[in-house]
Amino acid sequence: MRSRPSTTPTTTPTGRNQSHTIPEREHESWRASGNAPPPRRLVPNPIEMCNLVPSGGTIRLNGVSYVLSNTCNFDSVLQVLYCLLNTHPTAKAYIQKLSQSNVQKAATVLTIYKHLTNGNYDAAKVVTVLNLLDLTTDKFNDGNMYGSEERFLNKIAHFIGIVQSSSCTNANCPLEKSDTVYPMKDMILQTPNDAVNIFNSGVTGDCQGCSSKNVNTAYKWTSSGAPPFFVFPITNTRDVSEKEISFSQEFMRVSFNLFAYTVHLNDHFQAVIIWGKKKYLYNGSTEPVLSPHKQFNQDHRVSTVWYTKQ
Ligand SMILES: [Zn+2]
Repeated sequence: MRSRPSTTPTTTPTGRNQSHTIPEREHESWRASGNAPPPRRLVPNPIEMCNLVPSGGTIRLNGVSYVLSNTCNFDSVLQVLYCLLNTHPTAKAYIQKLSQSNVQKAATVLTIYKHLTNGNYDAAKVVTVLNLLDLTTDKFNDGNMYGSEERFLNKIAHFIGIVQSSSCTNANCPLEKSDTVYPMKDMILQTPNDAVNIFNSGVTGDCQGCSSKNVNTAYKWTSSGAPPFFVFPITNTRDVSEKEISFSQEFMRVSFNLFAYTVHLNDHFQAVIIWGKKKYLYNGSTEPVLSPHKQFNQDHRVSTVWYTKQ
């Protein structure tokens, strides 16, 4: 955890010199003026205690320093993932279990998580670009990381798999009837509402395996059930506003609460993280903690949506 100024006064050390400050009467004579309640002690909630991913960064490889720029696209999803693991023990246990099963990038995410928790931001960034995004040194020469959000999601796509089943009426259709798909890399969802409809009601269209029409493709959780969190990308064809995302939502018969979303605004990726009824903004320069967020008053595009299981 990052250290921060205390919100309560530090305790005065007791000693002989302070003895004269101890009241001699048993009963307090002090009364609050007017009807004002006593000041409430401000206790930061777990989201406000989360370390923040610094933007940019310098990485040193084989004696050469590379300065990274435009890292906001993956910083924002990394920040959401970090806050998720830091506040939801079930999500962390889930990633640990995936890591034990050698699911792609689960161990790498846990390493990044550890570095961020310990405040080793440079190390976290090095592991992110080299071992999670699998970028090579030729990419670092100009250091421009723009366009890496999709790459980040593709790398962690195997964290969330769902079963896709298609019901083709053609008995000779070569199409697999049931298959595991990974929404973060396999699905094109144009709006949050589009995502809700597709996951809950499926899609009807032409068969990908034969010439049959009106094939319904439906989705359900795998036999292990819904994971503790669910994330999907929004592939925008128009501006999609944060107002279009519902706070609580059922996906494939399981209830979820909105945890976060990333948005693209003024060529900059940012993340909004929800705790209780409060929204917090991560924009890469928020120090020392996430700042309160109401809603964007400019056009923006939602790029990923994150839910946690109720
Ligand atoms: Zn077919």
